[in-house]
Amino acid sequence: MNKLISVVIPVCNEEKGIKKFLDERLFKALSELKSYDFEIILVNDGSKDKTLEIIRAYAEKDKNIKVVSLIRNFGKEMALSAGLRYATGDAVLTIDSDGQQPPERIRDFLQAWEDGAEVVTGVRDHYTKHGLIPRLGSKLFYRLLRFMGNKTTVPGSTDFRLMDRVVVDEFNELTEHNRITRGLVDWLGYEKVDIYYTYGERMAGRPSYNFKKLWSLAIDSFVSMSTTPLVIFGYIGIFITIGSFLLGTFCIVNQYLLGDPLGLYWNGAVQMTIFITFLVGLVLISQAITALYISHIHAETQNRPLFIVSKKKSINISTPVKPNGNIKTERKN
Ligand code: UDP
Ligand code: MG
Repeated sequence: MNKLISVVIPVCNEEKGIKKFLDERLFKALSELKSYDFEIILVNDGSKDKTLEIIRAYAEKDKNIKVVSLIRNFGKEMALSAGLRYATGDAVLTIDSDGQQPPERIRDFLQAWEDGAEVVTGVRDHYTKHGLIPRLGSKLFYRLLRFMGNKTTVPGSTDFRLMDRVVVDEFNELTEHNRITRGLVDWLGYEKVDIYYTYGERMAGRPSYNFKKLWSLAIDSFVSMSTTPLVIFGYIGIFITIGSFLLGTFCIVNQYLLGDPLGLYWNGAVQMTIFITFLVGLVLISQAITALYISHIHAETQNRPLFIVSKKKSINISTPVKPNGNIKTERKN
C-alpha cells in the first residue's frame, strides 16, 4: 500500500490565485508522484472573499481534499496548527497557497524523508526579490535569534516543511498559545534536513504579512524562545550599580576623608546624581530578578513535555509506568 502524505495548506483571501495554484502547480506536481497517496487539507483562515466557496467546490468533487474552515482569521501559525491536527498521513507537508513555495520540489522533500529525515525544512536560497528593509530585517532577526540561544534555526527557514508522523504527534501535544511553528519544531529537535529552494513570486493577490505582523512575529519568537533579553538588562543593572557604588565611595573618600586633594569640587547635585544612578541600577537588577520568576512561571504554563523519548532508537523499553502530561514516549512508530 502506498504511504499517505498529508498536504496542509493555509489559505486566507486567495480567491485570485488559489485555483491556478492548485490546478497548475500542486495537483500537477503531486500527480507525478505515483508511489504516494495524498490527502490535501485546505485550512480556510477566515477569508473574507470567495476563497471558501472555491475550495469547498474542490472538496465536494474529491474526498481526498478536505476543507477545515476557521470561523475567523486566526493567523497563519494557528491555521497551520489546525491543519496539523486534522492530518492523518504518514508524513505531513505544509506549503503556502500563493505559489511562492514551489510544489515541484515536494519530490525532494519526500526523498529526504525516505532517506531518514524526520523534519525536512525548506530554506530560501536568496533574498534578492525583497526590498532592502525586509532583507536587513530578516538578517537581523536571525542574528538576534541566534544570539539569544536558538542555534538550530537556519536563516531563511520557512514553513515549507515536511514532518514525519511522530513529529506531528508531538507537535499536536504542545499546548502553548503564542506559537511560532518553526521555533517549536526546532525545539522538538528531531533529525533535520534542510532543502534550499528559490522563493517565487506570488501567483496573485497580495501578501498579508505586513510590517506590523512581521514585527510581532519577531517579538513572539524572542519572547517565547528565550530569557536572554531579561538577563541582558540584569547585567546592565549590575554594571550600573557597581560603577556608581565605586564612584560614590571615591567621592566620599576624596571629599570628606581626604578634603578633596584632587580639587574636584563635587557638589551636592553631583553626589545626588551618583546616588540616584546607584538606585537605578538596583531597580534594574530587581526587575530582572522579577522577570526571571515570571519566565519560570511562563515555562510552567507553556507546559512543554519534559523530554521526548525516541521509540525508534530506544531499545527494550515498554510504556512508561505512569505516563502523564509531562512524561511520555511517542505514541506511534
Ligand atoms: N495566510 C493565512 N492566514 C493569514 C495570513 C496568511 O492562512 O492570516 C496564508 C496565505 O493564504 C498563504 C500563506 O499563509 O497561503 C502565506 O501568506 P503570505 O503570502 O501573505 O505571507 P508571506 O509569503 O509573506 O510569508
Ligand atoms: Mg506568500
